Amino acid sequence: MTIFEKIIARQIPADIVYEDDLVAAFRDINPQAPAHILIVPKKPIPRIDVATEEDKLLLGHLLLKAKEVAKKLGLTGGYRIVINNGPDAGEAVPHLHFHIIGGRKMGWPPG
Ligand code: AMP
Repeated sequence: MTIFEKIIARQIPADIVYEDDLVAAFRDINPQAPAHILIVPKKPIPRIDVATEEDKLLLGHLLLKAKEVAKKLGLTGGYRIVINNGPDAGEAVPHLHFHIIGGRKMGWPPG
């Protein structure tokens, strides 16, 4: 069971900002910006690489809820949605998650 499954199951605490039957969004424990939320599917897809056609509605739902969370947090100046896939990208938790990051000006390209 990944740490995010434990958060979904309320086995470990998290600051949950949104939840429905398919997804949960909670504050990152090590925020990289004033606003840093993770939104995850309740279905434990390890990473975007292994998502399938079967997941397409769920993936669309995640993105639409990500922008709703950004709106709810008042990120009117903009925000970034990031997926880290695999070791080169810095993936640390093998449960698909979108980072929603905002509240400060960001650089490009990312590090
Ligand atoms: P990634 O490197 O894309 O796999 O991101 C994993 C993210 O999960 C990191 O930003 C961590 O700070 C975050 N994280 C790890 N454990 C927790 C936790 N218990 N609650 C909230 N965020 C966490």
